Amino acid sequence: MTSPLGLYIHWPYCARICPYCDFNVYRARGAESAPLVAAMLADLKAWRERLGPRRLVSLHFGGGTPSLMEPEDIARIIAAADDLFGLVAGAEIGLEANPMEVARFAGIKAAGVERLSIGIQALNDHDLNVLGRDHGRAAAIKAVETAQSLFERVSADFIYARPGQSLRDWQGEWQEALSWGLGHYSCYQLTYEPGTAFTKKAERGAIVPADDDLTADMFTLTQDLGAAHGLAAYEISNHARGDDQRSRHNQLYWTGADWIGIGPGAHSRWGRPLYGGRQGASAVLTPGGYIKGPSQTFEAVTALEDAQERILMGLRLKEGLNRASLRAATGHDVDPEALARFIAQKLLIDQDETVRLTPQGRLYADRLAMELAPAGD
Ligand code: SF4
Repeated sequence: MTSPLGLYIHWPYCARICPYCDFNVYRARGAESAPLVAAMLADLKAWRERLGPRRLVSLHFGGGTPSLMEPEDIARIIAAADDLFGLVAGAEIGLEANPMEVARFAGIKAAGVERLSIGIQALNDHDLNVLGRDHGRAAAIKAVETAQSLFERVSADFIYARPGQSLRDWQGEWQEALSWGLGHYSCYQLTYEPGTAFTKKAERGAIVPADDDLTADMFTLTQDLGAAHGLAAYEISNHARGDDQRSRHNQLYWTGADWIGIGPGAHSRWGRPLYGGRQGASAVLTPGGYIKGPSQTFEAVTALEDAQERILMGLRLKEGLNRASLRAATGHDVDPEALARFIAQKLLIDQDETVRLTPQGRLYADRLAMELAPAGD
């Protein structure tokens, strides 16, 4: 059986670079988009030749700031994906939007996008300024209202555990966001990634990161308040009002399905280790290098690496990680000693061959996943 296939489109430009961001992004500075779109279309054609006939279940425009794309370019990429691969009926077509591009939302919808996720991040001007965002509270709210009037499926993204943010501050904001009645929210903890401006500031004491206890309390509040509003987390950081509102594209990553990526720095994974092998590809990071080509480099993903990725991702899901599926795909299982230890510590449950995090275990998801992953030879 062939796994569902998704297409990720990475638009690498942003109006300005946020100080906490470690994505593959570049200042837009009047960048010419035509050569990049042409390179993406050529890359997509090469993917079709490489993979043979497959239909797409999802398209996701991420970045960067894909709402900076011209709607005509969005429409061209959707049309090319449909011509080359074919979209299944009801395929998800999602795009990540900056509230500042609210004037383009109608054009983005007309181009064929049906799910918009808006990078709200915070609901007060002070914190938005600290986060280096170019929008304020008023623009955030206007963007949500506009998106709600245009799109059936809208998600709002937030960042919590900001410098100086109290539990009460976050509770007020999260409650207000939930009162909008959207079908989906993503709430991420602010992390300090190596090399970012925020990390350098934290190292010299110019900002004070939230401590672990406060961050854990904010996480638990996020989960509890979300659940109380009918939006229990279906993935550690993602809350949906029913299955229809889930991000189907992101679920491809979390369940070890197949996806291909176009645009600078995009990643791809397809195939299963025990059925002809799993392959990976990474697109060239810089827009200039990507346009010049060759745009992709390829690598075989070993069964062990695939098992490690499936454990890291699958454990984050409400449904948990099915060990029988893991073994069927990779020939590997979770580490039995770590599994027994985490069950005894009430961080995990293992029921019907499915490993799930307990509410307490969710606080340590990545560490548990690393210890559960089988080790190399
Ligand atoms: S807008 Fe998003 S992708 Fe762009 S710099 Fe900010 S956080 Fe990174």
